[in-house]
Amino acid sequence: MSDFVTRFAPSPTGRLHLGHAFSALTAFTAAQKAGGRFLIRIEDIDTIRCKPAFEQAILDDLAWLGLEWETPVRRQSEHFGSYHGAIDRLADRGLVYRCFKTRREILEDIARAPHHSGEGADGAIYPGPASKMSEDEEAARLAAGEPFAWRLSLAAASAELGDLAALTFEEDGRGPMGETGTIPVRPELIGDVIIGRKDVGTSYHLAVTMDDATQGITHVIRGEDLFFATAVHRLLQALLGLPVPVYRHHRLVTGDDGKRFTKRDKSLSLQAIRDGGANAKSLRLQLGFNW
Ligand code: GLU
Repeated sequence: MSDFVTRFAPSPTGRLHLGHAFSALTAFTAAQKAGGRFLIRIEDIDTIRCKPAFEQAILDDLAWLGLEWETPVRRQSEHFGSYHGAIDRLADRGLVYRCFKTRREILEDIARAPHHSGEGADGAIYPGPASKMSEDEEAARLAAGEPFAWRLSLAAASAELGDLAALTFEEDGRGPMGETGTIPVRPELIGDVIIGRKDVGTSYHLAVTMDDATQGITHVIRGEDLFFATAVHRLLQALLGLPVPVYRHHRLVTGDDGKRFTKRDKSLSLQAIRDGGANAKSLRLQLGFNW
């Protein structure tokens, strides 16, 4: 067996649709071709929107598609302690700060920023607060039980790591603008991104980066919609001393109208397709997988 390890990482917030099937088949087929390993990870940090029933349905759909994976399946909701521990370590180094602001206050900060910062992995890029909160105010807000998010301080990260634009990752597929090969991180597209959400104390970015390292993932294969998130993950790898996998972003499957599928398109769920009497082999063929 080669040392190639990849994964499919669904969030159980609904049933899988054709876009997920394409992603899962892309990763699985790559592992088969490389003689490597294929893992599934359940990304269920959003404890309100994720449901165990969806998790089971997703696994059933993937088995129906013809995929096989190693067990036990890793479930992120069982590892909050390790994500919170990483945030504590980043906080000890002054790399993250507590942000008590509401969504509206954040948008006001963005509007006040001298240069309009544009869109990053999580929407509008947050350039950071105009001034640092005083220790007294922070202590008072904490004592009052006000909720806060942990944000990465890009300034502190570059003070520790030097020029962040010198960080790169290998793109073995293509980004949305055809990006391929050695890709430099663009810190201006990251901003002070949320690393720990107000509700669950971690974020997609932190959990996915730590888990890819913990699970020994050598090739992250996922949709090009996550291309900009990869720069955030590369920065976290540098800060947390984690290995850097190769990235392979793939095109997104779209409907006849050219629009991406979402979990709201129930008619294109694998469940509806299965219920309509389709067989897995013809669906695989339709998506371009000839096995
Ligand atoms: N859980 C993410 C999603 O469902 C995928 C994460 C990844 O592949 O990195 O979109």
